[in-house]
Amino acid sequence: MTPRPEDLLVPRREGLYCPPGDFFIDPVRPVDRALITHGHADHARAGHGHVLATPETLDIMAIRYGADHAGATQPAELGEVIRIGDVTVSFHPAGHVLGSAQIAVERGGMRIVASGDYKPRPDPTCARFVPVACDVFITEATFALPVFRHPDAAAEIDRLLRSVARNPERAHLVGVYSLGKAQRVIRLIRDAGYEKPLYIHGALQRLCDYYESRGVALGDLRPATVDAGAKGDFAGAIVLGPPSAFGDRWARRFPDPLVSFASGWMQVRARARQRGVELPLVISDHADWDELAETITAVAPSEVWVTHGREEALVRWCALNGIAARPLHLVGYEDEGD
Ligand SMILES: [Zn+2]
Repeated sequence: MTPRPEDLLVPRREGLYCPPGDFFIDPVRPVDRALITHGHADHARAGHGHVLATPETLDIMAIRYGADHAGATQPAELGEVIRIGDVTVSFHPAGHVLGSAQIAVERGGMRIVASGDYKPRPDPTCARFVPVACDVFITEATFALPVFRHPDAAAEIDRLLRSVARNPERAHLVGVYSLGKAQRVIRLIRDAGYEKPLYIHGALQRLCDYYESRGVALGDLRPATVDAGAKGDFAGAIVLGPPSAFGDRWARRFPDPLVSFASGWMQVRARARQRGVELPLVISDHADWDELAETITAVAPSEVWVTHGREEALVRWCALNGIAARPLHLVGYEDEGD
């Protein structure tokens, strides 16, 4: 008999739980056995007994938390079928950041795909999202409102480079989250033909080195440290750092800084103003409204479970399109890499 989806995955306080496999997916607190979709801090936490994730996600967790972040780790290659208890699991590309994966959980002819965070559009820094046919598709809803339509990322980078050309006396400070967004923005700047050195905050160094080691060429990166050089050195330069650093003394050393920020949230003008962002760049590592709808249509599940974000709008879209859907009300996911 085909099991019900609720027999395979149930929401718990710690995260999505699989009773027949006795594991959690992206638990928000330490558990015995965790399957992790990607390295962002709200999905990948330290302190689990056993972690199963792609090799890249395991490497990223070790870089961020230390090699002893879990009791034991096991790499899952993309597409490899792994048995855990009474279920099988497999990992498939999610297109969100390097190593990011959707996790398929199967038993007795029932397949549920937990997609974690994802974006279907191409990203030169990670494997492209693949729709995986399933009975139940669990989708994020970070940008699940019709107002969210992400422009072409290359066009946003062109806006940045035009601003740099127009303001040769100013330093452009570009806010980027350290995992994924930083490397994608750097790669896009290189793809636009900009070959000068880029200056990076120390918080980005190890993950940029790691992306380079995995074949993502980032060009000439130099430290933008507080002690390095006088103010004038950075006139006309592009400096990338985590947005949290922009309130620091670190940011004030640059000549007449022009503050930019690369995030899907930059489509909300009030947010950009609140943060004092002069040049908002709408570059997101999540699916926008159209991409959520296109993905659900491509996956063609009989049921959709919606988590973290604007659940109600997406549940309603599913209902209008004849697809059963419900919100999962999982808590604790505030993506650091939007
Ligand atoms: Zn994420």
